[in-house]
Amino acid sequence: MKEWEDKIRKVVPYVPGEQPNKKHMIKLNTNENPYPPAPKVKTVIKEMDDTKFRLYPDPTANALVKAIAEQYQLEENQVFVGVGSDDVLAMAFLTFFNSDKPILFPDITYSFYDVWADMLRIPYQTQPLDENFQICFMDYEKENGGVIFPNPNAPTGILVNLDFIEEILKQNQDVIVIVDEAYIDFGGISALPLLKKYENLLIVQTFSKSRSLAGIRIGYAMGNPALIQAMQDVKYSFNSYTMNLPSIQIGVAAVQDTSYFEKTREKIIATREWTKVKLKELGFSFADSMTNFIFVTHKSYAAKDIFEYLKTRDIYVRYFSSNPRIQNYLRISIGTDQEMDCLIAVLKEYLK
Ligand SMILES: *Cc1c(COP(=O)(O)O)cnc(C)c1O
Repeated sequence: MKEWEDKIRKVVPYVPGEQPNKKHMIKLNTNENPYPPAPKVKTVIKEMDDTKFRLYPDPTANALVKAIAEQYQLEENQVFVGVGSDDVLAMAFLTFFNSDKPILFPDITYSFYDVWADMLRIPYQTQPLDENFQICFMDYEKENGGVIFPNPNAPTGILVNLDFIEEILKQNQDVIVIVDEAYIDFGGISALPLLKKYENLLIVQTFSKSRSLAGIRIGYAMGNPALIQAMQDVKYSFNSYTMNLPSIQIGVAAVQDTSYFEKTREKIIATREWTKVKLKELGFSFADSMTNFIFVTHKSYAAKDIFEYLKTRDIYVRYFSSNPRIQNYLRISIGTDQEMDCLIAVLKEYLK
């Protein structure tokens, strides 16, 4: 081994879901929104002034911060925006998780958390979900360097209520508690009201799922001004101009169109509920998902076999091979009614 090899930072990267590029396929593997973004996004793109691209963008992305703050009735100094919530979460790990004590998160959860912790050399300890995939709040009462969990959790789809989150906050007043609300718009209640009471709470949301903008990369954190300021200081010490000008303008257009947002999320919820009924009829079982995906297992067919078969029919769902606890599960994103109809028909053939 060469001397320099020893000095390279070694990381095991997060593996995102496949992005196959086929003309006719049903893509239910990365929880993207099946509907286009708000109509005003297209107008903004058409009318974009390219002479502005010469200039650096506003490093504070203030237009977008303002639009988000207005939407959630917060002050501008309570909002931090970044390049997808992955960027925001990584920035939050870097800013807030600096203890010798381990940070805590569930053993079955968003698989980026352990990747960031490893990369940033943050000690962590995963806490096992119970046999029904529920988070046990007692696991979060031990000494720790911070807490993070998604609500609803991914890939289980299970939502906890605000009393549960408040319980965790009460037990952890000396560390930062991050609630990753990537899927909260699909039927959950946001922890936003708790911001008034707990200054150590940070809520992270994204435009990738409920606002159909995964390709534009916008995420944001909401919290007390001291936390937001701390994240900003870290960001400006790393890369000031993360949000490009088109993304800022597109984000503003998307967040302001509340009626389109309501319409599409209600549509996805309705399709999800219909899909639950059909999957149950086919012998699948699953926790009651409050997200835009369903995490399923089948009593007589192996998840991996179903996954491989669906692929031969150009239907892509997500299979997590690396965590033994969920090796017999598939995560199926909610598409359009037509796509889900087709999925059900193909499953029906296979499960004969
Ligand atoms: C999708 C997802 C994110 C990140 O989404 P971005 O596209 O980076 O905004 C974060 N957390 C969870 C739990 C997710 O599922």
